[in-house]
Amino acid sequence: MNIVTVPDPLLRQISEPAEIGDKSLKKLAKDMAKTMYKTDGVGIAAVQVGVLKRMIVIDCDVESRRRRPIVLVNPEILKTDGPELTEREGCLSVPGVYGYVTRPTWAKIRAQDRFGNWFEREGEGIVAQCFCHETEHLDGHLFIEKVEEYVDVEQMQDGEEE
Ligand code: ZN
Repeated sequence: MNIVTVPDPLLRQISEPAEIGDKSLKKLAKDMAKTMYKTDGVGIAAVQVGVLKRMIVIDCDVESRRRRPIVLVNPEILKTDGPELTEREGCLSVPGVYGYVTRPTWAKIRAQDRFGNWFEREGEGIVAQCFCHETEHLDGHLFIEKVEEYVDVEQMQDGEEE
């Protein structure tokens, strides 16, 4: 699937709740995961592949790359906590741009699976960062709105991209 990139106005739109029982969700999740791995992303929102449905796919296990994507349908951040942390961030929809964004170090998210069952997940560090970044996509927000300092990509070392 092609990634929707800036300045496409689609990225600024608010995604609609994903309908439980929608048979296209399974394939969409699969395609999103495939696209995420292909582009070395750690998370992807449906809007990034051009579908305005509230669904995100995440796999922050960058070390092992066992490929166990978590599919979150209609996700909402329940709670964030911990000291704020300023980390480098990038986005598949804003290619070649990296910047420092301050996020909470811990976040709890609530979401449905595609059968409608609600579940909760919590995560620290990159996982919390990813929960926040991806759910913001569903409300038409991009990380560049929060960047405190941009990274000089020329100065980045190989393999450092997120
Ligand atoms: Zn993004």
